[in-house]
Amino acid sequence: MKIGVLALQGAFREHIEALHRLGVETVEVRLPEQLEGLDGLIIPGGESTAIGKLAVKYGLQEAIRRYAEMGKPVYGTCAGMILLSKDAGREQPLLGMMNVKVERNAFGRQLDSFETELDIPALGKEPFPGIFIRAPKIESVGDGVEVVAALPDGTPVAARQENMLVTAFHPELTDDLRFHKYFLSMVDTRGEGSGVRDQSVMLR
Ligand code: GLN
Repeated sequence: MKIGVLALQGAFREHIEALHRLGVETVEVRLPEQLEGLDGLIIPGGESTAIGKLAVKYGLQEAIRRYAEMGKPVYGTCAGMILLSKDAGREQPLLGMMNVKVERNAFGRQLDSFETELDIPALGKEPFPGIFIRAPKIESVGDGVEVVAALPDGTPVAARQENMLVTAFHPELTDDLRFHKYFLSMVDTRGEGSGVRDQSVMLR
């Protein structure tokens, strides 16, 4: 299995390390042709405006859209979630593929960064350490979007739409590899079709 990590800006090294700990081969993606042959793609956290502008500049905006439209699994953390969203509440280059509306930097100044235990049923009973860094909020979800995790007040912080997965928090900054394993479970290792229902990679 070979997973690409968009390496234009932001926390891409941490995702690569998490994937290596799971024994997965990785590719740093900076050019459209580097998407070829990848079983999945991670769009890291960072600054969504910067990543979006660079993606447009290097032809990656269109290339990633085509890649996701083929049904290939794509996972966006934080800024990556903003980029995958259809609506970020302001003008900025987006991939605009997922039926969610997000609000950038939504947790207020005093809560710019915080850590909280998340109950994520798809990962089992153990709470997951949610690290939020100037995180966006998912304001609303549209058709075909399943909420994977929410804060106690009901605010969704992880969601999935077919082959696309997003989190407002940063699993790559923890030692807990369960969320990356969950993403890998969406990857079709047989190289056919979308593979979104392929459970050949076990979660625990
Ligand atoms: N605040 C950033 C943005 O709006 C996202 C922060 C992050 O990715 N940790 O793009």
